[in-house]
Amino acid sequence: MSEIKIISTSEELKSIREKIQSQLSKSNTFDSIGFVPTMGNLHRGHLSLLSHALKNHRYIFFSIFVNPKQFGPNEDYHKYPRTLDKDVQLIEEEIKKFGQQQQQQPLSQPQPQQQPTQPPTIFIFAPSLATEIFPQGYDTEVKVGEITKILCGCSRPTHFQGVTTVVYRLFALIRPAVAYFGLKDYQQYLVIKKMVEDLLLPIEVVGLPIVRDHDGLALSSRNIYLSPEERVEALVLPQTLTKIKNEILDGRKNNNTINLLLEKAAKIVKNDSRFEYLEILDGDTLSAASEESTKIIILGAFRVGNTRLIDNILI
Ligand code: AMP
Repeated sequence: MSEIKIISTSEELKSIREKIQSQLSKSNTFDSIGFVPTMGNLHRGHLSLLSHALKNHRYIFFSIFVNPKQFGPNEDYHKYPRTLDKDVQLIEEEIKKFGQQQQQQPLSQPQPQQQPTQPPTIFIFAPSLATEIFPQGYDTEVKVGEITKILCGCSRPTHFQGVTTVVYRLFALIRPAVAYFGLKDYQQYLVIKKMVEDLLLPIEVVGLPIVRDHDGLALSSRNIYLSPEERVEALVLPQTLTKIKNEILDGRKNNNTINLLLEKAAKIVKNDSRFEYLEILDGDTLSAASEESTKIIILGAFRVGNTRLIDNILI
């Protein structure tokens, strides 16, 4: 059975990380550190990141920290759900599930070349205070350029700087080999990749698919803000993205241009004030999509009542 340890201070984290360093083996890639950063209030989306990490690493750090720096002055920092006990329980259940799956694997099945020799050890890093991450006198920001100025960056001008600053600091504390992010926050994923590339950090950034509810709504910690009526209204977002996806796929057959669909999307945003943006972009660069784009992404931000939701579909 995997071991779980909860860490609430940076000092303890540093000391544990030092101990692990001496045990890391350079020859076995499973004997490495995986990292899953979150803000807690866990759902199946977060757990899918953990599930991936469990398959690949001997040591996993799972952080739960509601980062004040990534919230704007009028956003939901204070009311953001903080549910540590339940989160720990969900992590324990996921680990148990993983253990059972491991036991059920038939012995005859060919094993990957480098199997972990021991079950993974999971460290939940849940700082008890924001000063554990940003101590008194902390005065450095990490800011990525152009890619942070579009889409969510327009209505949340300091958001990505808050994200990269906390993720950089967590990377520095944990020094993982691989960090797992959800493609639900696609722009965030590309921003982190850019930071890692530009600052030459020796970390592999892995993006994993969006986990959705039975009716197509992307899972999000913020979905709990929705009233039953708003929960139904929220489906307009994935439904609109899916419709555009189907039109793009049909268009490929019928030679319709992306430009025509861009005009359609612009019209939707103009006529439906709930849409903050609805864009069809190149999936690698988030620049304008063209017929040459190998990956196309449709992204939307949508307000239901006071709740802002984001979603995307990659094709
Ligand atoms: P958060 O706690 O919202 O900061 O999210 C932590 C990580 O979980 C981020 O990398 C998110 O992209 C990822 N995540 C959130 N929701 C989902 C989802 N529905 N499917 C997959 N990943 C998700």
